[in-house]
Amino acid sequence: MKVLVINAGSSSLKYQLIDMEGEKLLAKGLCERIGIDGHLKHTPLVDDKPVFNEDLPLPTHAEAIAAVIDKLTSAEYGVVSSMSEIDAVGHRVVHGGEKFASSVLITDEVMKALEDCTPFAPLHNPANITGINACVEVMGKDVPQVGVFDTAFHQTMPAKAYMYALPYDYYTKDGVRRYGFHGTSHRYVSQRCAELMGRPIEELKLISCHMGNGSSICAIMNGKSVDTSMGFTPLVGLPMGTRSGDVDPGALQFVMNRYGMDIDAMLNVLNKKSGVLGISGVSSDFRDLENAAEEGNERARLALDMFDYSVAKVVGSYVAAMNGVDAIIFTAGVGENAPTTRSGICSYLGYLGCEIDEAANAKRGSDNRISTDASKVQLWVIPTNEELVIARDTRDIVSAL
Ligand code: AMP
Repeated sequence: MKVLVINAGSSSLKYQLIDMEGEKLLAKGLCERIGIDGHLKHTPLVDDKPVFNEDLPLPTHAEAIAAVIDKLTSAEYGVVSSMSEIDAVGHRVVHGGEKFASSVLITDEVMKALEDCTPFAPLHNPANITGINACVEVMGKDVPQVGVFDTAFHQTMPAKAYMYALPYDYYTKDGVRRYGFHGTSHRYVSQRCAELMGRPIEELKLISCHMGNGSSICAIMNGKSVDTSMGFTPLVGLPMGTRSGDVDPGALQFVMNRYGMDIDAMLNVLNKKSGVLGISGVSSDFRDLENAAEEGNERARLALDMFDYSVAKVVGSYVAAMNGVDAIIFTAGVGENAPTTRSGICSYLGYLGCEIDEAANAKRGSDNRISTDASKVQLWVIPTNEELVIARDTRDIVSAL
């Protein structure tokens, strides 16, 4: 079975075509500037086919999907002979609310439920819905489409973890609660970690640290998410590239009054101008921060220190929540590539008996254990693979039809 995985944003669309036999990646690519002018980078990964990387008009998502299918099936850049070889499409969907605790086959009823979740993720869900509609328009109704939600994995959290201490009606009437995000990534790395440890996930207490442009931590007990640091939106928890993480709402009111800002202007600052960028004034990219800190930039050093400290505090709280931890996992752009951040975080975790092996930590490579043999808690670097999870869920759902 060949599955096309789609991650549609408002003006972009990422894709991968995966042959589920051997889970082989056949091609990947990115459409950008959809609705503006248009650019497509298509990378075939078989038969030494050339990369296509050119501007081309992409007025709508449907035209972007058509361009992707055209490249996937073309003689020069293609990896399949016709569209009929694509058996199913799996879509990343950001918010599934409380309705979706697992991936689903897209039906008219599901589309209606996705629309109902849109107020929870007004920037993301409409783009995901547009991506699904575009695939149906170009590929026809007979090709099954599956939705895989960032929030679904966290639906196992108990009420004591997901409730906010607000008037109860905001939850019952309006659905205001912690939902959590990056669920597909936390699910993938926790399952992979159990495999690598050679133990059933049902026996393990794991903490997964997804640290990239956006960052969240998840406590996983017996294979189930029991707590996570993002909330009703992906803005809270840790300080991130440009997002603030947790801030006292009273401080926001103070700033808004002082600078005459409305809530939209404030949220723009919290989402785009805060985090390690806001602290350092240098960059949202950890590579730039490390370079600046090495050159003596104190605000860059502070941003990195705040990040490590925040991660360590959340990890500590999840050890308390689970009454222990067997392994801590680092993943995503920063988690996979920044040894100094990993070692900075682990410097707080000696009380747990965590002992990092600095030689292993310095090594590049996937699925890398970076704890010493004596460490009481295993430490792992596991590259995330959300697309593979989406493809596997799609295969499982479509095979059972
Ligand atoms: P992601 O959102 O998972 O794609 O992560 C992107 C982020 O990973 C970038 O903004 C960088 O901050 C970080 N990153 C990528 N490569 C490195 C590296 N070699 N060292 C430190 N940070 C990195």
